[in-house]
Amino acid sequence: MLNTHTIKHHFPLFDRHPSLVYLDAGATCPKPQEVIAAEREYEEAFSTNVGRGLYPLAEATTERFEAVRSQVARFIGAESEREIIFTSGTTASLNLAAALLAPTLRSGDHIITTELEHHSNSLPWIELARHSSKGELAHTKNIPLRLIPFTEEGSIDTDQLIALIDSKTRIVALSALSNVFGTRNPITDIIKRIRNRNPETIVIVDAAQMAGHFPIDVAQWDADLVAFSGHKMYGPTGVGILFGKQALLETLRPTTFGGGMVVDACAEPTEYKESPFCFEAGTPNISGVIGLGAAITFLEHIGFETIRTHEKNLLTMTLTRLRENFGDQIHILGTDDIEKRGGLISFTLDHIHPHDLAQILGEHDISIRAGEHCAALLHRKLGLSATARVSFGIYNTEEDVEKLISGIKNARTLFDTKTPLHSSI
Ligand code: PMP
Repeated sequence: MLNTHTIKHHFPLFDRHPSLVYLDAGATCPKPQEVIAAEREYEEAFSTNVGRGLYPLAEATTERFEAVRSQVARFIGAESEREIIFTSGTTASLNLAAALLAPTLRSGDHIITTELEHHSNSLPWIELARHSSKGELAHTKNIPLRLIPFTEEGSIDTDQLIALIDSKTRIVALSALSNVFGTRNPITDIIKRIRNRNPETIVIVDAAQMAGHFPIDVAQWDADLVAFSGHKMYGPTGVGILFGKQALLETLRPTTFGGGMVVDACAEPTEYKESPFCFEAGTPNISGVIGLGAAITFLEHIGFETIRTHEKNLLTMTLTRLRENFGDQIHILGTDDIEKRGGLISFTLDHIHPHDLAQILGEHDISIRAGEHCAALLHRKLGLSATARVSFGIYNTEEDVEKLISGIKNARTLFDTKTPLHSSI
């Protein structure tokens, strides 16, 4: 069993802020000292570029950097490190995916995404469809975007999704775990059903909220492209991954050009390196990648079974305590089935706006998130202007949950009015 009191000491943030109750892992995780030390070690002892220098320090940096690529590949069950593209985060990965796929679209194709996506996995596709409708894609126009609704329990309506797949479905972009509902989508099953309808559809998975909480197995999913961020899995900010099946990456043309990705810049046509290097122009976030490697080692040291057991306990306790204390005044989004939930809970509470709640809790050192959580469409569909969100990491304790509950009780006493501020869910 995870000893949460000792694990907390791996996170210097809690030494600096001993009374902090941090319940916003869904936005970003505090970094363990192992990650900070790895980044620092690179800056202090290596501080050279990758893939360029021929002297020992630069070669050592390249070796360490490429070792993380292999580590990431193993971590997510990729076939080869050549399937791992380093980016600056999930948003960059999904935008890169859209840019890489844009030239492959053909007249009559359509794109499908869902109404529960984070803006990072909706806006790139909305923009792609918009550009095509304005005739701004060189080779084709009018690529419609179709949006799939979500179910009451907060997962993608798979039947509706499958019903829309036909021979012209070029791209399906969906998330593995909703950052608002907290519900996990059955990705393996969904992809299998998509493939049965159209084996050529390219499926992109936003795994930002899965990474660090559940194992990711791209082979089991059979996804074509998968995006996630380092900072939501105890790694540094500014580093992320775009996994792509090698056979697919080999067919795509780079969209960003510059140093480090070219074999012969004077040739006509220019000769680029093979993937993934042709997709990584310029100097990467080297310390970030090194830190990401340390985050993976940290996670593997704890083990996903332990992480899941811990988060599930906190989840069960929080749901119970919220319901016990606030009864029919609290409206919790998503499913009651803990097995289908990741470690986050979004809710509204009668008589207090989520922003007020978050602000008052913040004044008492309890950090939760409030707002649309970059999922405007989802909130619009529910008729909500905002929700409050609590999200867990391995450093959270039962004591944190008790502090949250008494914090919410106190906050409510300040807003003791009889008029609900939200429409019903
Ligand atoms: N997708 C989901 C589901 C997310 O929760 C987030 C971050 N909140 C992102 C994408 C974007 O991640 P990043 O800001 O690290 O690019």
